[in-house]
Amino acid sequence: MLRDSFLFLSRAGWAQTAITRFPLAWQMASRFVAGETIDAAIAVIRALNAKGLDVTLDFLGESMTNEAEATHAANEYVCALEQIAASGVRSNVSIKLTQFGLDLDYDFCLRNVRRVAEKARAVGTFLRVDMEGTPHTDRTLQLVRDLRQDFDNVGTVLQAYLYRAEQDLIELAGNGTRIRLCKGAYQEPPDKAFPLKADVDANYVKLAKILLDLAHSAAPADDAGRGPPLAALATHDEQMITAAKTHIAEKSIPRDRFEFQMLYGVRRDLQEQLAREGFAVRAYVPYGTHWYPYFMRRLAERPANVWFFVSNLFKR
Ligand SMILES: Cc1cc2nc3c(=O)[nH]c(=O)nc-3n(C[C@H](O)[C@H](O)[C@H](O)COP(=O)(O)OP(=O)(O)OC[C@H]3O[C@@H](n4cnc5c(N)ncnc54)[C@H](O)[C@@H]3O)c2cc1C
Repeated sequence: MLRDSFLFLSRAGWAQTAITRFPLAWQMASRFVAGETIDAAIAVIRALNAKGLDVTLDFLGESMTNEAEATHAANEYVCALEQIAASGVRSNVSIKLTQFGLDLDYDFCLRNVRRVAEKARAVGTFLRVDMEGTPHTDRTLQLVRDLRQDFDNVGTVLQAYLYRAEQDLIELAGNGTRIRLCKGAYQEPPDKAFPLKADVDANYVKLAKILLDLAHSAAPADDAGRGPPLAALATHDEQMITAAKTHIAEKSIPRDRFEFQMLYGVRRDLQEQLAREGFAVRAYVPYGTHWYPYFMRRLAERPANVWFFVSNLFKR
């Protein structure tokens, strides 16, 4: 119920105007967001790298309503990739296709993303296409397939709450597409996604095992060592992580075949602990001024975040 309310607010323009007026909103969002500029983000990446964590960088923005905004997002990513290369930090990038104009025109979006994929390839790094809500799933996967005709430094994300995820996983990871497996962060109807958390969790464990096995048996990619592994398990859920670790130990899966991923500002203790244990860990680091929907989804994920936010809002 609370989760649904925050997911609804994440899409409501009037709520964005109302909530972002409070300086405290940014103060709280900044727990999850590296800053508003690329320089602030690079400083955060450097600090995370020093703790043994790799990074994927996200320039915040989604649901662009005109081509100028979408072109600006691609330009920003090209600059960010130049800064990553110039500063020598360990980071790839993650993008959202609605930020690149997916809702405006498929071919425009593809051309826009290609520019960033080319720059990523030129600086020897990787581009991950995030997964948004189900109105975008088919087009996102199609665009990833189209991109991969020319770019092997492109991968994507699958959401374990979707019934279709297993089929997509077998197709995509089976053909060498690098996959980040997450539970899923959007509001979805029961004919598309498991409504019960227990079922989402069970499906996550099932799919994580399939993905790990595919990563185990896959031939190493041409850019192995530079690119991320085939399997990325994105979760802060210790039960998911324990189940994955058990499977990894039982099957003797080498540690260079997978990585754990977590969001900047969430379970930092767990991120650093896994890195100390010798696992590859990548933090997802967002930056930019369009932080509102991202922040609302983080509140939706954890009721304790909501109560902290609301009580502080009304204390002022
Ligand atoms: C690297 C990364 C990339 C992602 N990319 C996508 C994507 O492309 N598309 C998409 O739909 N979703 C994406 N997600 C979000 C994901 O789908 C989940 O919504 C989110 O990770 C919460 O699920 P969980 O696996 O951590 O488990 P949950 O069951 O939600 O949480 C388990 C525990 O983790 C901790 N926790 C989880 N979330 C928070 C939070 N916000 N604040 C504080 N503690 C928290 C709490 O201790 C909680 O009890 C991504 C997540 C990560 C980590």
